[in-house]
Amino acid sequence: MRVARRIESLPPYLFAALDAKLEAKRAEGVDVISLGVGDPDLPTPPHVVEAMREAVLDPTTHRYPSYVGSPAFRRAVAAFYARRFGVELDPDTQVMALIGSKEGIGHIAFAYLDPGDEALVPDPGYPVYGVSTRLAGGTPVPLPMLPERGFLPDLGSAPVGERTKVLWLNFPSNPTAAVADLGFFEEAVAFCRRHDLLLLHDAAYSEITFDGYVAPSVLQVPGASEVAVEFGSTSKLYNMTGWRIGWAVGSAEALRALAVIKTNLDSGQFTAVQRAAIAALEGPPEHLERLRETYRRRRDLVVEALNGLGWSLAPPRGSCYVWVPVPDGETSAGFADRLLDEAGVFVAPGSGYGERGEGYVRISLTVPDDRLAEAMDRLARLLG
Ligand SMILES: *Cc1c(COP(=O)(O)O)cnc(C)c1O
Repeated sequence: MRVARRIESLPPYLFAALDAKLEAKRAEGVDVISLGVGDPDLPTPPHVVEAMREAVLDPTTHRYPSYVGSPAFRRAVAAFYARRFGVELDPDTQVMALIGSKEGIGHIAFAYLDPGDEALVPDPGYPVYGVSTRLAGGTPVPLPMLPERGFLPDLGSAPVGERTKVLWLNFPSNPTAAVADLGFFEEAVAFCRRHDLLLLHDAAYSEITFDGYVAPSVLQVPGASEVAVEFGSTSKLYNMTGWRIGWAVGSAEALRALAVIKTNLDSGQFTAVQRAAIAALEGPPEHLERLRETYRRRRDLVVEALNGLGWSLAPPRGSCYVWVPVPDGETSAGFADRLLDEAGVFVAPGSGYGERGEGYVRISLTVPDDRLAEAMDRLARLLG
C-alpha cells in the first residue's frame, strides 16, 4: 500500500543515513567518538530525579493529566519568566505544557498553516521548522542566516510574500551557536507586526550562554506577546532530553489555536514529569552555573584545538555547539566522511541544516571532556 504524499514529499533525512554509517563503523570495531548529536552526556540533577520518584508514588498523578499542563507547572514556568526575564505571563492563558518542545514546534504548523502558506525558516536551522511546515501542507522558505551578520538574518531583505504566515527564529542557535540581542528581537517583532506574521522563537538554549552574555526572551519586547510564541524546554538546560517536557508561552490566541490541535492528538504530559520539571525550574541556580561552566570549558578546548590547526574561530557565546567551516575545497558531507573514516570522529555535516549550512560542520559539546580531548587529538593527527 502506498504511503501518503506528505511522507514522500519530505526530503531524505540526512542524519538517518549518517547514523547508519556510524553504526557500521562501530560494528567494524572502530572506537568512534560521536560529536554529532546534541544530547547531553551529563545526568539529570538528583533533586529532579527525586521529585519524579515521589510524584510517581502519588496515585493522583496516575490519571489523565491536564491537556495544557497542571496549574502548578504553568505557574512555575510563569515564575521562571518573571524571575529570569522580568516578563509577566498569565499562567492560565499564556503558558502551555508540551511533550518536549519539539512536539509544540511541530504542531503549531498545523494551527497556522493552510496548504500553500509559507513559513520563513532559518537556513541553516533546526530541521523541524521546515519539516513540520511541509507536513502541514505549507512551504518552508529559507531565511538566510548570514555569516557576515553573525549568522543573524537581514530582515529587510527577507523573502516575505502574500502567503507568509510565520517567522521561525532560534537564538542561541542550533546549529550555528549564534546569539541575538534584544535590539534584534525588537526588529523581529516590528517586522512580524508589519507583515502580520506570527513570530515563533525557539529558546531551547536560553540558559546556555558564556562570557557574560545573557540571552534575552523575545517576550521582553513590549507588546511581543500579541504576535509571538516562545518555546522552551528542560531538555538541554537540565539534561532531561529523555523526559519529554517543554513549554510554549506568549500569545494567548496562538496557544488557544495550538491547544485545538493538541487536545485532538495528545492528552498532555504525565503529571509526574511535570512535577519533575517544576523541581528543575525551581531548583538551585548552581546547576545552571555548573552546566555553563562545563560547556564553556569544552567550547574552549575545541576552539583552541581547531585554531591551533589553522582555523580562526571566535568562541561562540551560546548553545552547546561549535559551527566550523570546512577546509577549502571540501564539502560538509565529504569532510564529515573523512573525519569518520580517517579519525573515527563523527560530526554533523552542516548541509543537513539547510542549503546555507553547506561548507560547515557542527561539533556538539555534549560529550565528556576526555573524549572531546581525544577527538581533538585525532583531528590534530589527521589535519595537523
Ligand atoms: C534540542 C532542541 C530542542 C529541544 O527539543 P525537546 O523536544 O524539548 O527535547 C528544541 N529546539 C532546538 C533547536 C533544539 O536543538
